[in-house]
Amino acid sequence: MTMASKPTSNHEESDSEVSHPSESESALETARRQLYHAANHLDIDSNIVERLKYPKKIHEVTIPIERDDGTVEVFTGYRAQHDSVRGPFKGGLRYHPEVTRDECVGLGMWMTWKCAVMNLPFGGAKGGIAVNPKALSPNEKERLTRRFAQELRDVIGPTQDIPAPDMGTDPQTMAWLMDAYSMQEGETTPGVVTGKPPVVGGSEGREEAPGRSVAIITRLVCEYYDRQLEETTVAVQGYGSVGSNAARLLDEWGATIVAISDVNGAMYDPTGIDTHSVPSHDEKPEAVTEYADTVISNDELLTLDVDVLIPAALGNVITKENADAIAAEIVVEGANGPTTSTADAILAEQEIEVVPDILANAGGVTVSYFEWLQDINRRSWSLKRVNDELETEMRAAWNAVQAEFESRDVTWRDAAYIVALSRIAEAHETRGLWP
Ligand code: NAD
Repeated sequence: MTMASKPTSNHEESDSEVSHPSESESALETARRQLYHAANHLDIDSNIVERLKYPKKIHEVTIPIERDDGTVEVFTGYRAQHDSVRGPFKGGLRYHPEVTRDECVGLGMWMTWKCAVMNLPFGGAKGGIAVNPKALSPNEKERLTRRFAQELRDVIGPTQDIPAPDMGTDPQTMAWLMDAYSMQEGETTPGVVTGKPPVVGGSEGREEAPGRSVAIITRLVCEYYDRQLEETTVAVQGYGSVGSNAARLLDEWGATIVAISDVNGAMYDPTGIDTHSVPSHDEKPEAVTEYADTVISNDELLTLDVDVLIPAALGNVITKENADAIAAEIVVEGANGPTTSTADAILAEQEIEVVPDILANAGGVTVSYFEWLQDINRRSWSLKRVNDELETEMRAAWNAVQAEFESRDVTWRDAAYIVALSRIAEAHETRGLWP
């Protein structure tokens, strides 16, 4: 029951990771399966479920750019707009060779569920260009982005569809997109994208937001199971944006972080790691093991006997191969789709609580919403206000999911999807179908 996608991304609405290589399922299949699964628990009109199986629109564009050597190359770009019943479409733009039309549709659906579980007034979308961004010079990437913005100009906008960074795109990409759009509109329009640098309308606290939301949800789930953070041991896989921010906050709040890792392996210290003394991926890439006295493998980290396990690196790391060996009592999904659906069932049988990505790492899109509010109101919020409001939104979403978890006796994942689908279905019912 994880959402699907392929490689990992570094960005806020990269909410879209995951493919299940060994337990294969496409993003679209996963998104639809999750839709049916949640619908089975709810008394909603089957016509609404039928409608939600399909995107509202898919835009496919060709993007010719001049390479630095003077040749012209043509790339294909997409924007899949799934559902906008609750507000403008929202979701990332990824630059990756494996971007496809179907993947964008599946990941766009995922954004619909994610925005709804957070009760944000947005629907879901996803887009991208099938290109290897590492093979582009910065100038080529800029030309590609500006031309893509031009091709999408009629279908994006602060009240229509608001892209954000995803795999292979970053705040600079969003700044170019915003500039290209604004030049054509004849006015500066920061609200057309989120995830921009703060100097052009980006929000304070956006970069840390997914990790912060993971930490907040970990705190809330511990509270729910009467577990004091001071008596809680935590292992975190991945020490990038999500993993390092989550680990450091939980460390500050009193938890004992016994293991952190990067692609090279894991640092293990049962007495507790001083997380601030270990550089994150952004501060010094892949340096975790250099700072470790005891190194263990990433596989060993996943099966440590800890209270909370936070997979925050990649999709599909908890699979049918290792699910039986997971010893943590609680798994909080920091990465997108770290648990395959088969593994999810095994963990449920073992009564290991899994708090889903759709809720736990939703701080990214939530602070994107704050960024959009700041942009359209021409005001900027302090970091304290961003963090306070994020806390409020995460707690509200948690409370809604907790109510379904308790009243329906389902998993945390199912509870989150039930919250999302009920809100979307109710909005569809209330608005009705244009004849
Ligand atoms: P990042 O690039 O900042 O960091 C990734 C970390 O994972 C690095 O420490 C890297 O060394 C480690 N890693 C890479 N391959 C690994 C492997 N095989 N085994 C163990 N560790 C490995 O990425 P991030 O932004 O922190 O994203 C992590 C996950 O969270 C992804 O699934 C991403 O889609 C998801 N996510 C990110 C955001 C965001 O805004 N950053 C938002 C929502 C979800």
